[in-house]
Amino acid sequence: MPKLSRRHFLGLAAGLGAASLAGYYFLALGAKKKVVIIGGGSGGIIAAKYLRKADSTIDVTIIEVNKLYHTCYMSNEVLGGKRTMESITFNYDKVSQLYGINMIYDQAIGIDSKAKQVRLKGGDTIKYDRLVLSPGIDFNWEAINGYDASKIEQIPHAWKAGPQTVILRKQLEAMKDGGTVIIAVPPKPFRCPPGPYERASQITQYLKFHKPKSKVLIFDSNQKFSKQALFTEGWKKLYGFGTENSMIERIPYDHGGNIVGVDADKKMIYAGEFEDEYHGDVINVIPPQKAGKIAVESGLANESGWCPINQKTFESSLQKDIYIIGDSCIAGKMPKSGFAANSQAKVCAQAIISSFQNVATIEPSFVNTCYSIVGDDFGISVAAIYRYQDGEIKISQDAIGVSPLNASPEYRKSEVVYAHSWYKNLTTEMFD
Ligand SMILES: Cc1cc2nc3c(=O)[nH]c(=O)nc-3n(C[C@H](O)[C@H](O)[C@H](O)COP(=O)(O)OP(=O)(O)OC[C@H]3O[C@@H](n4cnc5c(N)ncnc54)[C@H](O)[C@@H]3O)c2cc1C
Repeated sequence: MPKLSRRHFLGLAAGLGAASLAGYYFLALGAKKKVVIIGGGSGGIIAAKYLRKADSTIDVTIIEVNKLYHTCYMSNEVLGGKRTMESITFNYDKVSQLYGINMIYDQAIGIDSKAKQVRLKGGDTIKYDRLVLSPGIDFNWEAINGYDASKIEQIPHAWKAGPQTVILRKQLEAMKDGGTVIIAVPPKPFRCPPGPYERASQITQYLKFHKPKSKVLIFDSNQKFSKQALFTEGWKKLYGFGTENSMIERIPYDHGGNIVGVDADKKMIYAGEFEDEYHGDVINVIPPQKAGKIAVESGLANESGWCPINQKTFESSLQKDIYIIGDSCIAGKMPKSGFAANSQAKVCAQAIISSFQNVATIEPSFVNTCYSIVGDDFGISVAAIYRYQDGEIKISQDAIGVSPLNASPEYRKSEVVYAHSWYKNLTTEMFD
């Protein structure tokens, strides 16, 4: 074996030094904090962007099953024939190109919280230091007799925008004048509390101008609903609500409004204690809901079907280093809305950064506004600030408001303008 001269040794040492430096460099890269986000929707994209904005050394990956995102917000306007599907469809090109966020188009099918990795349907596993879930909702298919995923082509739910929205719109277009549209509203809590009533309004508006002998029946599993007085005012003004010729009718829970069964072939629904039968030419069943499938199957939901969290940080109460935002989580008094998910995502990103830096997180506050478009030039809204207090997110009583009853036509018209500008702002923040 040749002896090493001092020169050779120093050369080798320098080489080793370079290698170890390079090794250190890669180690440093490898040691970059990794945040993985399941779900590239209202909550997921915003969490990703704010993490990268706050600390560009964090490696952020979104796992999203679809290459295109269709916003549920404004999908009721598609049903009403007021806008196209294209106008509510977005891609993730800028999210990855401008913000350096890794996009993986695959379905997350399992979480190993001990090994800190996510299993994908495509076969890969993705490691994380912190995991964020914003997977939206799943449906309780067993809740309504005769209605499950195999029936959604005949009886669409359209509560996840996309192909379902298109099917429901086509059914409305094909319906004869004089037909009956049935909309079944699930028990609370569900995604977008005013959404079913805005949908009923948009569909009634379409029928008013195109099939005026038709009718919309809302079967409601609830007694009261969001912005009820304002919706009622709009329905009276626009659709004759409360009169014999009303184009829209609502059957609340105590009048047998809770739907218990469906016969998709006969286009019948069964509702109330005595399972009264009703025929609909178009039936839209919005099924009862729970947290997104991946959250439930990973043991992150409790007996309510939703995910308990530390409402200050959004970290799961059940598993460490996993955060849940958006519709899936139990966020105190906040509604399940896109704007709420957006606001929660920012607080969650801040909490994750704090956990990496080992510093205390802030006392968060949140915002939510829900606009509903009841008809042409008739918008209504509710807005609130929420604060974290005594372990729970509560409404800030000095910062809540609904738009006034009996407002002027100009006021109602401006609420529609605000609704559209809100939509532009939210989607620009997500996708641009
Ligand atoms: C008709 C209607 C109207 C609405 N109008 C409004 C409104 O005017 N204003 C408002 O603020 N909110 C509105 N909403 C509510 C809003 O759409 C939701 O509250 C919001 O989108 C929730 O955000 P999220 O991030 O929790 O879920 P989502 O935005 O649904 O995102 C979830 C994403 O996760 C993906 N995903 C799920 N599971 C997996 C998995 N295992 N692997 C990979 N990807 C997965 C999904 O494909 C989806 O892209 C409306 C909803 C409806 C139905």
